[in-house]
Amino acid sequence: MQEKLKRLYEECIQELKTIHIDVTDSSKIGEIDIKIAKRNAKRYGCCKQLEPDKKYYHLVKRGYRRIKVYDKFLKHTIEISKWVMELDDKIIKNTILHELIHCMPNCNNHGKEFKFYANYINENLGYDIQRLGNKKEDYKKSNLEYKENDLDYKYIIQCSQCGLIYYRQRLKRNFLRDYRCGKCKGKLIIKKFK
Ligand SMILES: [Zn+2]
Ligand SMILES: [Zn+2]
Repeated sequence: MQEKLKRLYEECIQELKTIHIDVTDSSKIGEIDIKIAKRNAKRYGCCKQLEPDKKYYHLVKRGYRRIKVYDKFLKHTIEISKWVMELDDKIIKNTILHELIHCMPNCNNHGKEFKFYANYINENLGYDIQRLGNKKEDYKKSNLEYKENDLDYKYIIQCSQCGLIYYRQRLKRNFLRDYRCGKCKGKLIIKKFK
């Protein structure tokens, strides 16, 4: 899987070069490391920023204080979620490109600069980089069956009688006391809590 990621990452770099974005220029962008995320997460990927270039920052008001927010970093670690690696190559590359934009100066968020690069890449290379991905759509485009993913939910509840599974992000207080299975009125049990 790591091999596949490296290959697609290399393809992204080459494609970006054709539209005059050179992410291998470490003097402008810093060093980039890419790997598959160890922990499985709901998100497609993330870009961890390391070692801020302290010359570049802006001030943000937090209450009475002003704090420094750095705009440029010397090192980045991109992590791509495992489940993304099963999708269509184009979608994996779309994810890699999204995270690569976060490595550029002033792009450590989904603001104006991020959108500028996303639009530029989408228009010139035919990608669909958005702020957030659409998991269901991306599974469909990859001809894969989309299943409700256990990892997306904090709680998995099962009916002790008919076995029906329910997924919930949060539970009301006294949930087990107050609620019953919607199908058979059986007693519910919590199967997993993370
Ligand atoms: Zn992002
Ligand atoms: Zn039931």
